[in-house]
Amino acid sequence: MTIAIIGAGIAGAACAAALTQQGHDVVVFDKGRSAGGRMSSKRTEQGYLDLGAQYFTARSDAFRAQCDKWLQTDTISRWNGRLAVFDGGNLMPSPDNTERYIGQPAMQAPVVQLLNNIHLQCNCQIDQLQFDGKYWQLFSKGIALGSFSQLVLAIPQQQAQQLLQPVLTQSARLTTLFAATALLPCWAVNIQLEQPFLPYDAIFVKNHPLSWLARQASKPGRCSAEHWLLHFSPAFSAQHLEASTEVIAEQAVIALQQISGQPINAVTTLCHRWRYAQQAAEFPVAGAIYLPALALGLAGDWLNGGRVENAWLSGVQLAEELTL
Ligand SMILES: Cc1cc2nc3c(=O)[nH]c(=O)nc-3n(C[C@H](O)[C@H](O)[C@H](O)COP(=O)(O)OP(=O)(O)OC[C@H]3O[C@@H](n4cnc5c(N)ncnc54)[C@H](O)[C@@H]3O)c2cc1C
Repeated sequence: MTIAIIGAGIAGAACAAALTQQGHDVVVFDKGRSAGGRMSSKRTEQGYLDLGAQYFTARSDAFRAQCDKWLQTDTISRWNGRLAVFDGGNLMPSPDNTERYIGQPAMQAPVVQLLNNIHLQCNCQIDQLQFDGKYWQLFSKGIALGSFSQLVLAIPQQQAQQLLQPVLTQSARLTTLFAATALLPCWAVNIQLEQPFLPYDAIFVKNHPLSWLARQASKPGRCSAEHWLLHFSPAFSAQHLEASTEVIAEQAVIALQQISGQPINAVTTLCHRWRYAQQAAEFPVAGAIYLPALALGLAGDWLNGGRVENAWLSGVQLAEELTL
């Protein structure tokens, strides 16, 4: 019988691809317009802008092998940005020469590749689940989507917790999993400038309301005009979570001026609030979770230390546990 996967981010896609390869029948649901989740670049008239994941690295042998395959098919490319660090008011070049990858032509390309030939239903927000002891029923806006022998949730922690309310009391493991917050928020702001303004492509920012800056045009496939992406720190983002986009855009221009030491003339600004962005450092790593009594699996970056690579590993691990 069919396995349902909720979430077409890299974790859900990795899980779906591994299960399909083993001969299982899989259907993936996502509330978004297309697959990618937090790896989705925004399509604009000027080209793609990366507002979420900025790049990914490969530290494990398994993910390195996967990245090699994607490199061979031009699904991803290396990104050799000129990196800097801003700390204590000083801007200096970064000695970090880690190999970094980006999707081509947009960040979500690896997710789309993994889901090639897999039944994917987008624009479909699952808002209700029912478990009868053997099968899962999924619903979207009151419409039943079918009966499934196993259910995989590959969505952020806080969204998984909401969906799993009907079965939370049936598993102590689930209760403890949701006791602490795994994912912290991030305000992202893209600022278009009239002309190049710094001799760097990206800046790791420390001890400041911002945490990261990147020049979109330094990435192959992205918008070629002078667009800079800013990420605010988790602390700033949490404190200003409900602020208006006007206030956040204003703060972004001020912060960019501070870091560059130059007046900024923003041509356009675009703000995006990620409520669930990156892993809280202290959240415990579990890899993936499979609860056979509930025919339920959970995967995602939040269970495995954050980041694209760990989300992929979590999805692959869950597929292995489901089929043991
Ligand atoms: C601002 C930001 C910067 C980042 N920078 C980096 C970086 O530089 N390097 C790096 O490695 N990682 C980075 N990350 C983290 C990286 O993006 C994530 O670790 C990874 O993409 C998570 O993948 P996932 O599949 O676990 O979850 P997601 O990508 O969040 O996928 C979950 C999917 O589930 C869908 N969904 C949720 N609820 C439902 C529902 N009820 N019904 C149907 N669908 C649903 C969502 O639409 C989404 O597509 C960043 C993230 C953010 C937000």
